[in-house]
Amino acid sequence: MNPIAAFLIGSALATSALAQKISLVGGTVINPADGKIVQNAVLVINGDKIESIASRKQSGVPVGSRWVECDGKFILPGYIDTHVHFFQSGDLFTRPDGADLNSVRPYKDEVGWIKSHLADTFARYLRCGITSVVDVGGPMWNFEVRKTADSTAKAPRVAVAGPLISSVSREKLDLGDPPIVKIDTPDQAREFVRKLAAQNPDLVKIWYIVDQNHPVDSFRPIVRATVEESHAHKIRVAVHATELETARAAVEEGADVLVHSVIDKPVDDAFVKLLKDRHTILCPTLVVFERYGRTFANKLNLTPEERAWGNPEVIASLDVTKIPSDKLPERIKTALAKPDEALGRIKKTYDVALKNLKTLEDAGVPIAAGTDAGNIGTIHGPALFREFQLMKEAGLTPMQILQCATANAAQLFGAETGAHIGKIEKGYFADLVVLNSNPADDIAHASDIESVMKNGVLYPAYTLLTAPAP
Ligand SMILES: [Zn+2]
Repeated sequence: MNPIAAFLIGSALATSALAQKISLVGGTVINPADGKIVQNAVLVINGDKIESIASRKQSGVPVGSRWVECDGKFILPGYIDTHVHFFQSGDLFTRPDGADLNSVRPYKDEVGWIKSHLADTFARYLRCGITSVVDVGGPMWNFEVRKTADSTAKAPRVAVAGPLISSVSREKLDLGDPPIVKIDTPDQAREFVRKLAAQNPDLVKIWYIVDQNHPVDSFRPIVRATVEESHAHKIRVAVHATELETARAAVEEGADVLVHSVIDKPVDDAFVKLLKDRHTILCPTLVVFERYGRTFANKLNLTPEERAWGNPEVIASLDVTKIPSDKLPERIKTALAKPDEALGRIKKTYDVALKNLKTLEDAGVPIAAGTDAGNIGTIHGPALFREFQLMKEAGLTPMQILQCATANAAQLFGAETGAHIGKIEKGYFADLVVLNSNPADDIAHASDIESVMKNGVLYPAYTLLTAPAP
């Protein structure tokens, strides 16, 4: 019998206080923070917190509490995706600034769909064992998303940044509450940060876009002002900077988090030392680098997890061959005509980004797992398992990958929440994933999910996607 289905209710002798306790008994508890493994464990959950963790030899099953037999199971802290965007669905129409398909589906319809499917998106994260996510930038309504998640049981914990402070504008995304705001002067930056601070953001995000018209140094004073004003409000700053010199400038100016890999060049010793000295956290987001190109070239490589647990409407939209060719933007037409070139560019990016990840991990720079889910082809929830595959290709061990997705990732959350997620320890939130096979042997097992606990409530995984779409 399914052990979760066979959930045993303690005897009638249980007191009301004890009745709130659940013990997970007999499983192997893996704590990636320090690599510690407790076999035949008794993990006691009291309300929304972990009360104790011990081996069965040390601790009998608590009398009077409910317990769940976890023989042969592997129990980990819930995963954390530190780079998502709830204002994007992951479908083909979600970034009209990159591929304008307004004539097929107006962007305002897309945004309407996204807002009305938030509960579905939340549930998909839980289905994947992801109990916390960081939304690193979107419209001001992102703050409503955080509030909604806080009051939804089947939702991950959500940390948010507000609109991105950027060197460039993106008019096609502006329906009155733009996700990206062009800032031209340090004073404007300070004023905007003060406006954001009033919403109590978990992070302030900078979109440090560099091209021929926007050299690294021209935006640098704005980065500096943004960091100074954010730090004055005790808010950390996350920066999108994908070139080595842009990333270096961002960290020199005080960025706390780099939200992508460096993809143009190998990182050098000075950069590695800079990140270590400043305790900068880096989130590689490897999966997103292949998904625009592969989607447009009709070479999408969705994993079985993505096909099973991604939103089916989003996935169906990604078939570019269904769009009448006269409505296809030039970028997609080109990719369709020359798919090998698109794949070649992805390979070139990975040749640099995967090596850089290994260099930084080996040097001891804190790496936080993240996907950039919501971008075209990067599927909310299960994209994390493709990220794990790519981290493995980079040469990280299963335990290192799990650490990136739990204890390291928790550092992106500030304050009380950050100090109580990502580990299986007394006093931490009871956010757990229960697996059927050992992810420390093979990271592919990280998606072999039997059940998920969020905030002390245990959900058999198969029940999590049954909610009707709103
Ligand atoms: Zn992003």
